[in-house]
Amino acid sequence: MTVAVERLLSPEIARPARYLGNELGAVHKDWNTSAVRWVLTYPEVYEVGASNLGHVILYSVLNAQPRQLCDRAYLPAPDLSAKLRQSKTPLFAVESRRSLTEFDILGFSLSYELGATNILEMLNLAGIPLTWQERGANPTGHRYPLIFAGGQTATSNPEPYAEFFDFIALGDGEELLPEIGLVLEEGKSAGLSREALLLDLAQVPGVYVPQFYSMGTDGSVRPNRPDVPNRILRRVADPLPAYSMGLVPYIETVHDRLVIEIRRGCTRGCRFCQPGMLTRPARDVGPEQVVEAIEQGMRATGYNEFSLLSLSCSDYLALPAVGMEIKNRLKDENISLSLPVSESIGLMKYCQYFGGKPYRGA
Ligand code: SF4
Repeated sequence: MTVAVERLLSPEIARPARYLGNELGAVHKDWNTSAVRWVLTYPEVYEVGASNLGHVILYSVLNAQPRQLCDRAYLPAPDLSAKLRQSKTPLFAVESRRSLTEFDILGFSLSYELGATNILEMLNLAGIPLTWQERGANPTGHRYPLIFAGGQTATSNPEPYAEFFDFIALGDGEELLPEIGLVLEEGKSAGLSREALLLDLAQVPGVYVPQFYSMGTDGSVRPNRPDVPNRILRRVADPLPAYSMGLVPYIETVHDRLVIEIRRGCTRGCRFCQPGMLTRPARDVGPEQVVEAIEQGMRATGYNEFSLLSLSCSDYLALPAVGMEIKNRLKDENISLSLPVSESIGLMKYCQYFGGKPYRGA
C-alpha cells in the first residue's frame, strides 16, 4: 500500500522536492513483476544522499539487473520526521512511495561513523526493530526486510554496528550486490526462512552475517557454527563510469554536477589514510571510458559542469589527454570542469609532513 505523500507535503514542509522521487534519471521499475525489491537508503538528508556517487552507481547497477527493483530512501528533515511520527505514517521509499517494511531488503550506506545514529532514526521511523535479534524473533508474525550496511566505515570495522544489521557487505558493491540479489531471488522462491536465507548469503564472498560469528575474550571474531567461512573477503570491483549518470535532482544538492570516477584507490599509501587503505589496489579507469561517460553524461543530464573523482586526481596519468579530448568533443558547449586538485596537493603535503611513503604494492 502506498503512503499518501501529497498529504504529508503540506506548505510548512521545507523543500518538498526531496521526497518526490521523480528526478530525471529515476528508474521506476514495475513493483508486481519484480522478484526482489531493494531500497538503497542514504542516512542523510536528500541533498547529501542524492549526490553521493556510490549511492547513484549502486542504484543504477541494481536496476540494470533483470527482476530486481531498486528504490531509494533518505533521512527526512526534522519537519517531515515530526509529521511522520505525529501522523503515525511509516518512512517510505521515494519512488514507489511504499513503506520500507514492504521491501525485501534495505541497504544502508555507512560511510562515516556519525551516520550510524541516523540509520537507527530511519529504522525507528520505518517501524522496523533495531537489532537483528528483534527482527528475527518475529513475535508479530511480520517478516521484516533484511537490513544490511556497506561503505567504508562498515568495511573498516563492522563490529560496533554488528547488532543492528542482518549482514554487512564488505568492500565494493558493484558485483557483490547483484550476487546478493540472485541469492535472495532463489531463497524467496524456495520459501526459505530468514535464518536459512542468511546462511546462504554468508557463503557469498564479502558478506558478513554477525549472528553466525562470536567475539572471543581476546577480541577476535570467529564463526560460531561450522558452515560459514572463517574469514570474510573484502570485495574489489573495477569502477563503472557508465553507471554514474544517475539522477538530476530538482533542488540544489551538495554536488550539483555530473561526477565521473576516474580511479579507485591511491598509490601513495599514507599510513593514516582510511580510504587509501580500504580501496586497495589502485585501479585506473581507461581514458576512453572516462571520455565516453562524460560526453554521454553531459548530453543526458543537461548539466553544464562535471567533476572527475578519485582519491588523488593529480596522479591519474591520462588526465591531460582526457581534458584535451573532452575539450575537442564539447568545444561548442559552455561546460566547465572542476577538479579536487588543491585538496590532493594539500593532502600530499600533509602525508609528507607525517612521513607518508610512496605505496608500492596491492
Ligand atoms: S595521497 Fe591522499 S588519498 Fe592517497 S593515501 Fe595519501 S592521504 Fe590518502
